[in-house]
Amino acid sequence: MQHFFVEPSQIRGNRIHITGTDVNHIRNVLRMHPGEEISVSNGTDGREYRCEIDTVTEDEVVCRLMFIKEDGVELPVRITLFQGLPKADKMELIIQKAVELGAYEIVPVATTRSVVKLDEKKARSKTERWQGISEAAAKQSKRAVVPQVLSPMSMKEALGYAAQMNLAAIPYELAEGMQATDRFLDEVCKLAAGKTEQDTIPQVGILIGPEGGFTEEEIAMAQEKNVCPVSLGRRILRTETAGLAILSVLMFHLEERK
Ligand code: SAH
Repeated sequence: MQHFFVEPSQIRGNRIHITGTDVNHIRNVLRMHPGEEISVSNGTDGREYRCEIDTVTEDEVVCRLMFIKEDGVELPVRITLFQGLPKADKMELIIQKAVELGAYEIVPVATTRSVVKLDEKKARSKTERWQGISEAAAKQSKRAVVPQVLSPMSMKEALGYAAQMNLAAIPYELAEGMQATDRFLDEVCKLAAGKTEQDTIPQVGILIGPEGGFTEEEIAMAQEKNVCPVSLGRRILRTETAGLAILSVLMFHLEERK
């Protein structure tokens, strides 16, 4: 089923008003007609609004709400992927795949060994482009939220933010053994099972280094903030593989079993 994102204000009672470029897509590309079913999310509340097209005009598609699916496709834990700025356009692939795998949010991080340096103007235009990639991926994998790509942070800012989360880990190729990794996975699962007394959705951070990895100082800084170094196995993974590997494992552990 075709899936669209709208602003919360476009859902009014049992009518959903689709505007903008989606109108052309529905009319001229998909050639959809009144009576056909689509699904809509407002990108924030995690719900899927299932509706039927009612009227199609040049600049608006009005749909009639049929029902709301509360238990959407979102994971029970919000995962923030902090990604050390990689070379060239690798970030695009990383964002697309992280969104497919259920990440809640992506934070590009300027680390010591990041080769790419973004000035403010470049950072703004890149972030906009990355947000677009997130939205397209969210649509494609029928996410109920569009993961936000935040403006690039320094390592210090990233660690400050990660420290506010329920839990955070920093995959480090020099971390020994899988004990810390297993402990981290266990704790994430406990958070998901609501074993802590929280009403808000738990938040977990994952920090991945760029091609050159993290420096020892960066790892020490992370440890000071209770961000635990973990191993992803004895093989060195490329930066674009590392985040996706751990996100896949988390997704598998966190997927709802009915
Ligand atoms: N330059 C380093 C590897 C960097 S890989 C070297 O060649 O030795 C890029 C990032 O992926 C790392 O900073 C780390 O966050 C993650 N990573 C890759 N392989 C890993 C592994 N086996 N265990 C934990 N983290 C890993």
